[in-house]
Amino acid sequence: MALFYPVFGSLKIIFGPFEQCLNCKKNFEENMKMMKRLSEELDSLKEDIELRISAECHAGTMQTEEVKNWLEDVQRIKSETEVIEQKAGDKKFLSGAFLGKKVEVKVVELKAFLKKGKTFLGLVKYFRYIIIGGGVAAGYAAREFDRQGLKPGELAIISKEAVAPYERPALSKGYLNPKGAARLPEFHVCVGSGGERLLPGWYKEKGIQLFLSTEIVKVNLGSRTLISAAGETFKYQTLIIATGSTVIRLTDFKIEGADAKNIFYLRELEDADELAESMKTKKNGKAVIVGGGYIGLEVGAAMRINNFDVSMIYPEPWCMPRLFTPAIAAFYESYYANKGIKIIKGTVAVGFNANPNGEVTGVKLNNGRVLEADIVVVGVGARPLTTLFKGQVEEEKGGIKTDKFFKTSMPGVYAVGDVAAFPIKLYNEVRRVEHVDHARKSAEQAVKAIKASETGKEIEEYDYLPYFYSRSFNLSWQFYGDNVGDTVLFGDNNPSSPKPKFGSFWIKDGKVVGAFLEGGTPEENKAMAKIARLQPRVENVDQLKKEGLAFASKI
Ligand SMILES: Cc1cc2nc3c(=O)[nH]c(=O)nc-3n(C[C@H](O)[C@H](O)[C@H](O)COP(=O)(O)OP(=O)(O)OC[C@H]3O[C@@H](n4cnc5c(N)ncnc54)[C@H](O)[C@@H]3O)c2cc1C
Repeated sequence: MALFYPVFGSLKIIFGPFEQCLNCKKNFEENMKMMKRLSEELDSLKEDIELRISAECHAGTMQTEEVKNWLEDVQRIKSETEVIEQKAGDKKFLSGAFLGKKVEVKVVELKAFLKKGKTFLGLVKYFRYIIIGGGVAAGYAAREFDRQGLKPGELAIISKEAVAPYERPALSKGYLNPKGAARLPEFHVCVGSGGERLLPGWYKEKGIQLFLSTEIVKVNLGSRTLISAAGETFKYQTLIIATGSTVIRLTDFKIEGADAKNIFYLRELEDADELAESMKTKKNGKAVIVGGGYIGLEVGAAMRINNFDVSMIYPEPWCMPRLFTPAIAAFYESYYANKGIKIIKGTVAVGFNANPNGEVTGVKLNNGRVLEADIVVVGVGARPLTTLFKGQVEEEKGGIKTDKFFKTSMPGVYAVGDVAAFPIKLYNEVRRVEHVDHARKSAEQAVKAIKASETGKEIEEYDYLPYFYSRSFNLSWQFYGDNVGDTVLFGDNNPSSPKPKFGSFWIKDGKVVGAFLEGGTPEENKAMAKIARLQPRVENVDQLKKEGLAFASKI
């Protein structure tokens, strides 16, 4: 064997440099490919950053000195890369020897530039469309965006809540059922209007980003910037404000003991979970409902169905005073009384007693009485969440003023749902509507308007007929139109009837403007909606009272 070593040694001396040269060429070719790929990647990153800067137009954050320098340097490195590529093409086989080191250096440089550029984008999350709020309106807006045509990555929904948009009315109804209680994912939007249920996977599939458990705490509409509680920055081209409402709390009025445990409010899923949990631990206990609006009436009924000893207190002379007439209210109050609910009207809670664990034990009334309580549910109203936008958009009627397309006074910014104060064509008046039907429809209208404006098309203006419904026990009512003027009650409003069915018309300037119906079929409810929309003249009020539903059905 030893005889061969000198032969191999000589061969290595002869062919070694040639082999090295081959390796060098191979490395060079790989580095060239890498350089080309990185250079293309840098090109598209540069384009992305430039696009965001142009989309921000009024913004400032992306246009820092650092970003400007980076963009200039990218231009330089791009030219240098092109020169290397050109030389490599000219010198063919020998280029590895001449350019190898230069290519290696360029690859390192390109990698560093890419890394830096990505940090600019990483700091700011940019979307063509952003919806703040992940409630009813947000869910219906997302569906409409999809219908109108949406590219993956264009839309983000930012929500304080931890779950994808759902039908909020379920929280005071099916969610509190003693048996077969509704739970997510059953009532994600858009089941409430008979549509497809949008599960979290739907948003993923469509490339819609859901930022859940993310609260926006700062907004600068001028620079199109949103800042979250965790410090993330979001930028958009078009914004939809869908922040809804928040409950009014008794602690806001510094009512003594109002921060005791087991005093609940109901707005979000978390609230409903806490209440449902407490209903288990305080089983068959005493519940006091503070407030005689629809939340109070629905939750009061739910607590009674769950076998709680329920008392309801409210300051007004009858329940749902903003909508119900005394006659309508009398039916529900008697019906509730028949179910064993004690209603104490003309009273307010002035304080709460608690045990040493801090749990509520009693509600002090302004007349000196104290009602025993294991659970208190407060439903004394809500206010629209507009604080973040104060001074940046025009406001009216406590909400954000919009036109018939839900465009606010700030370009590129729309407001829908509970927060929007919009013109109601039918009444020639600006109003805010805190009901689910409007949340759904306003969201769809805004998205149609946004998409139409991008293609220079026009859409029909919003022509909304106010609609609101509620359900409790076996009761179910719907209201359409405007509750102004004189009223005419009709039908069977005996609370002891096995199937009560009655209604009321509101008449203004000789025309029916509002229609309420308890216990109606879908067709009958449709007829009531039609009458409120068409506003027929009333020649004879007594005749109208006699005809009742039949009057609506023949319109
Ligand atoms: C318990 C209950 C029962 C109801 N029942 C009925 C009914 O029977 N019939 C009816 O017509 N209407 C009903 N409503 C009213 C109806 O649900 C609302 O009108 C509707 O939900 C309004 O939709 P929205 O999208 O404007 O607001 P919401 O659905 O309230 O959604 C707003 C969302 O924005 C989020 N948000 C707010 N601020 C921020 C922020 N800064 N950053 C990130 N996220 C934020 C909130 O967390 C929430 O997820 C009910 C409401 C409640 C609370």
